[in-house]
Amino acid sequence: MQIISSASQLKDYISQISGQNMTVGFVPTMGYLHQGHLQLVKTARKQCDLVVVSIFVNPTQFGENEDLDKYPSDIEKDCELLKVEDVDVVFIPKANDIYVSNDRLVVSYPDLSTVLCGKFRPGHFDGVLLVMTKLFALIRPDRCYMGRKDGQQLVLVEKLVRDLFLDVDIVQCPTVREETGLAMSSRNSYLDETQKEIASHLYIELCEVSKQLINGNSAEDALREATARLEKKGFEVQYFELVERQSFTQVNQLSSGTLLLCVAGLLGSTRLIDNFVIQVDAKEVEIDYGQDQEGKKLEPLFSDSM
Ligand code: AMP
Repeated sequence: MQIISSASQLKDYISQISGQNMTVGFVPTMGYLHQGHLQLVKTARKQCDLVVVSIFVNPTQFGENEDLDKYPSDIEKDCELLKVEDVDVVFIPKANDIYVSNDRLVVSYPDLSTVLCGKFRPGHFDGVLLVMTKLFALIRPDRCYMGRKDGQQLVLVEKLVRDLFLDVDIVQCPTVREETGLAMSSRNSYLDETQKEIASHLYIELCEVSKQLINGNSAEDALREATARLEKKGFEVQYFELVERQSFTQVNQLSSGTLLLCVAGLLGSTRLIDNFVIQVDAKEVEIDYGQDQEGKKLEPLFSDSM
């Protein structure tokens, strides 16, 4: 496994292997890796000849009062985990290598980037789209593996790739969850055990709202009640919405197409997000509840303690 820490070195490496007819799979991360990341890596490893993982805590996607300075990091352990997964290249750039001093590039979807998470994290998705544009230009991957956990990010990157005519397939991977249903996240390390239990209610409420929707109830009522229960548990809910997955426009019931049931909130000072992708057609409703750490598909968890 090669560890590359400069953009120019990576560019040289990619130039060398281009023309060798190898499928390049790319997994972008901010490090402090967990099973959610590793499932992306495993999928990339199965499907590609060469696997490149980036570890970069991208400053442009953090707001002024956010956790850039305390974002968890353990590069040594991350590299050990990636070695076990037989990764070929780990790219660990410095910020000033990605953003040279006179770089004023802006990549933005002004409308789609300012709703849902974007409403609470101004500029966040501009930062995500900017770094992804740069990483795609450097690595020129055939496939990029991303988690459904970050639902809005995934939709925006898919759109970026379409609009820039990039030759990269975005491969969406299911959300990997702890046994309690809590979506795995590097930020879970900010939570104590009591908070982790409370945090699992995001998943419980996603399941509960899904059940209400399947039963034909309105999203408005189900979301209002679920939000109240989360707040009673100690969450400051930022949004809990059912939206059409491409446009992020709100819908009030299961209409045909692909929908995103998504929630975000603060637990103490930790911001947590989660979502389900709901596929609706004339015959059936299919919901992705995520998968466990071994990669087994999860069934819905309907708690009777609510
Ligand atoms: P991050 O390091 O948080 O920026 O995440 C890097 C990639 O891993 C993104 O595509 C995330 O969506 C994905 N990811 C993070 N957590 C999970 C999870 N629990 N399950 C699946 N994918 C995840």
